[in-house]
Amino acid sequence: MKQIQIGGLVSFTTIDYPGKLAAVLFLKGCPLQCEYCSNSHLIAVEEGEYDPDKVFDWLRNRIGKLEAVVFSGGEALMQADTTIEYMKQVKDLGFKIGLHTNGFYPDLLKKTTDIVDWVGLDFKATKQRYKDLTKIDIAYDRMIESLKYWVSCGRGLEVRTTCDPRFVSKNDLLEIAKIASDMGVKNFAVQKYTPYHEDEDKKTTPSQREQFFNDEELRKKLESMFESVVWRNS
Ligand code: SF4
Repeated sequence: MKQIQIGGLVSFTTIDYPGKLAAVLFLKGCPLQCEYCSNSHLIAVEEGEYDPDKVFDWLRNRIGKLEAVVFSGGEALMQADTTIEYMKQVKDLGFKIGLHTNGFYPDLLKKTTDIVDWVGLDFKATKQRYKDLTKIDIAYDRMIESLKYWVSCGRGLEVRTTCDPRFVSKNDLLEIAKIASDMGVKNFAVQKYTPYHEDEDKKTTPSQREQFFNDEELRKKLESMFESVVWRNS
């Protein structure tokens, strides 16, 4: 069995798994190249900075203090069975398992069905803009396949869109929300885009980034489509 490559760890969070005190493991590797990526140090699958055995021992010591462990990235499923095996071992400690994913690996997601309790899935843009943002042709179709599957499982799910105004308009956000809602998604999150590195000719302004949050009509429309909408405006 290959060793899992862990590139980062958050030891305590209340916002990464709904209603649970959690730790987050950031795994190395991602097949996408999103223009707004803030985790570019995680994109290559290379040796991680954290010893998986030590992380596991640390998690064992957190039993009773933490309730969930979230696998994030990068794209946690890019390490395939190595990730799934490690998830299983963490679940056996008694933790709920969360997964933040871009949905690029529907077949691997299916293999996690009995392990992962809750998924936060990125629906990054409309089909027309997906490739511009992620640089990968098949990313949209893969994400939709993952989404369909996870909805069909009836397990915990939040679909989230990061509103980078270079790739998502208000109408796009409504289109994304409608697709998700029609597919049976109940929980949606609108995330503010934070600029980490923007080319001079593509710079966004604070008001462009805020436009998704201060439009009451847009908010009402979105909130009418789901049981819950989280507005992550920071
Ligand atoms: S899916 Fe996430 S980690 Fe991968 S390139 Fe996009 S923003 Fe970065």
